[in-house]
Amino acid sequence: MKSITEIVKQTEFSDEDIVRLLAITDPTEAEILRQAAYDRATHTVGNNVYYRGLIEFSNICTLDCRYCGIRKSNHAVPRYELDKETIVNAALWAATNHYGSICLQSGERRDPKFIAFVTDVLKTIHEKTVSPELPNGLGITLSLGEQSFEVYKQWAQASGNPIGLRYLLRFETSNPKLFDHLHHAPGREKALQRRYQALADLRRAGYQVGSGVMIGIPGQTLQDLCQDIRTFQKLDLDMIGMGPYITSEGGDMLGEGMMEEKALMRLSLNMIATTRLVIPDINIAAATALHALEENGREKGILHGCNVIMPNITPRIVRKNYQLYANKPFIEQEPSDTNLYLQQSIQKTGRTVALNVLGSSKHWKLRTGL
Ligand code: SF4
Repeated sequence: MKSITEIVKQTEFSDEDIVRLLAITDPTEAEILRQAAYDRATHTVGNNVYYRGLIEFSNICTLDCRYCGIRKSNHAVPRYELDKETIVNAALWAATNHYGSICLQSGERRDPKFIAFVTDVLKTIHEKTVSPELPNGLGITLSLGEQSFEVYKQWAQASGNPIGLRYLLRFETSNPKLFDHLHHAPGREKALQRRYQALADLRRAGYQVGSGVMIGIPGQTLQDLCQDIRTFQKLDLDMIGMGPYITSEGGDMLGEGMMEEKALMRLSLNMIATTRLVIPDINIAAATALHALEENGREKGILHGCNVIMPNITPRIVRKNYQLYANKPFIEQEPSDTNLYLQQSIQKTGRTVALNVLGSSKHWKLRTGL
């Protein structure tokens, strides 16, 4: 049987190799995996960490994902929607603080009013953020759920920045039964195949395409996670954002529990590091949910091969109402506090925060030649 040292040196991995890496619990083996993933990231995507300033502009959602704290059936959460001026000001704050990109996220809505509002916001952000430092304006990542191809095109055009345009749409798990379990709701509003189709549509519409999964879902196996990595490959993704499954008070899966925190952290880091080894040239975000499990969780993500961080720059007054899972961190910090803290902690990982750059995925650059 191959040793972990032999496995991590490979460039091609069998399913058996992947499951072996995901299963690591021994600290020495874990360090071998971590170092290999960190070095593979340095070698393929470089030493930089890129910021995506996260603006959670509305927690109004028309869907009912069972694991989610802001699903529509959770009537305990006060709903909010930031106005255009507040969103644009947050984007300007990001640009002034040398972030190359922002991420606009909200609950999922497909009504014409919402679509027009996002279009208008995108146009204004672009107009106001073109500068000598950012000649194409801020890079934009949208995380606004499944929409039609026409809507993706409309938003792409409004962003005005075709080389800094991204969309994050997680499929959460490639196991269809588990997917159904997570999203079970009258009328089965989400289907896995439709989600894959949406990812294909996004690619056709010109986006850098990101997706991801939750790690440690009740009932999920290591083989499922291996299959998730194979699906990342099949979908030819440019970016991955994945994090630990953490129960939410507002969800309706509390009764199923969650993994013990230490084991969940280990599995999450194994998944990040293994993904970096299998698909070396993609961007991988260090999820904020890692930090909910352990102090400096995101920094651990960087040490295991992540190269993107999404500092939350949503105005503090509404941030507490965007809790997808329990104990979400950085609810009380001002963006400026988070900024300073992050810069210092990223430096400790040996990486450099890249300022005023789009930080696009190398995988996307190679596949498009842009
Ligand atoms: S996960 Fe997203 S789409 Fe699902 S209920 Fe939560 S906010 Fe809505």
